[in-house]
Amino acid sequence: AWDVPLLTEWLTGFRDAVDQAGEELTALDSAIGDADHGSNMRRGLAAAVAAVSQAPPADCGAFFKTVGMSLVSNVGGASGPLYGTLFLRMGTVAGTAGTLAIQLFGECLQAGLDGLVQRGKAQPGDKTMVDAMLPAVRAYDEVAADGGPMVSALTAAAQAAAQGRDGTTPMEAKKGRASYLGERSVGHQDPGATSMTLLFETAAKVFA
Ligand code: ADP
Ligand code: MG
Ligand code: MG
Repeated sequence: AWDVPLLTEWLTGFRDAVDQAGEELTALDSAIGDADHGSNMRRGLAAAVAAVSQAPPADCGAFFKTVGMSLVSNVGGASGPLYGTLFLRMGTVAGTAGTLAIQLFGECLQAGLDGLVQRGKAQPGDKTMVDAMLPAVRAYDEVAADGGPMVSALTAAAQAAAQGRDGTTPMEAKKGRASYLGERSVGHQDPGATSMTLLFETAAKVFA
């Protein structure tokens, strides 16, 4: 099960992965946006890591809420409120739990996805981070429902996210800045779906 130290490893691992992919994220966003997704995510995650290390959260809910607040208040772009809402909603479901077993963590992910969709109003196929997260949560739930271990559920989620990310390339963007390009957004991988995939790949790695 997840606990606060392991969630902290997930967060720092995500920060590191985004740091490493920073140039790629910026290049993707320069093709169909304003070239700041890498720097937005780096700034937000640096703040989130600093916040949880300055005052270690007492439970899993407090952990996610601290991360969500850091992202909302340190990222200017669309991705800040969207990732922020995702983590805040995960925190609401996690509540005062000290550990998150496979079922409860799945409920957190579902609530995070619901929050992201309510906030951004993106449908599947709109070429956004939703196109990576929705299949990831579905894949996680399938393995969890079959009684599979957490690591298998997370691995399945990471693979589904990557597939969803790849699937954004031929899509025409319907939400966010990329939608201003209309048909010219076709043929480019979505930056937010790319960072979202790193989030799930890091979860699978940290848990293995
Ligand atoms: P901005 O577009 O404000 O510069 P970022 O570049 O940090 O913000 O983030 C862009 C990413 O945000 C996109 O690649 C897309 O995945 C995601 N995004 C934008 N708008 C929405 C939305 N309404 N719903 C879901 N995701 C969105
Ligand atoms: Mg941008
Ligand atoms: Mg921007």
